[in-house]
Amino acid sequence: MSLFNPETVACPSCGAAVEFNAVFSLNADRRPDLRAAVLDGSFQRQPCPACNTEFRLDPEMTYLDVRRGQWIAVFPVANLDQWEELEARTLATFARAYGPKAPAAAREIGYGLKARLCFGWAALREKLVAFEHGFDDVILELTKAALVRGLDNSPVAIGTELRLAGVDGDQIAVAWLTSADEEVKEILRAPRSLYDEIAADRTGGWTALHATLSSGPFVDLNRLLALTVG
Ligand SMILES: [Zn+2]
Repeated sequence: MSLFNPETVACPSCGAAVEFNAVFSLNADRRPDLRAAVLDGSFQRQPCPACNTEFRLDPEMTYLDVRRGQWIAVFPVANLDQWEELEARTLATFARAYGPKAPAAAREIGYGLKARLCFGWAALREKLVAFEHGFDDVILELTKAALVRGLDNSPVAIGTELRLAGVDGDQIAVAWLTSADEEVKEILRAPRSLYDEIAADRTGGWTALHATLSSGPFVDLNRLLALTVG
């Protein structure tokens, strides 16, 4: 079931009170339309009735897609600096819902689910796009790391993020965007073969970073960034 709660938030432009039907549980199996709205960026976005400025409610919810094996705890980007604490909370929530502490029927479903934690709509969307293209999200993050390694100015910084936008033929398109409003600053491209090479790597060159990125449900390059800053 998808669950919503009425919530009043201040319009970021004029301050007027805006009513939102805030989602706190999204079931993509039963509501494919909501999954589609996450993908096209329209979900939980609406105009302010006073000034007509469109804005988006920050996500704080769980996302479930049993068919695709995805269970994702989503928090606002503003909570990124608490990822370690939220990672522990995410693991506890998953354990109660689908893990060792869940009833047998739910545990059965849980075997097929990958638990993830992400911050913001762009990060959630990326997990869905990655699945569509058959990407393992850990390898995808390593590919992004390889992509930015060759750049003079690293686009990985507080306030911006790199998110898989899609795949064009043999090119992976990665959007460098502003976290606050998801505005795309630039589209970076990498050959899909870079992903395939990293996935097939047996030299051990990626082993340490792979282990770091996959050591918890927060599979994201920001894990390293937050570590550096924190
Ligand atoms: Zn307004």
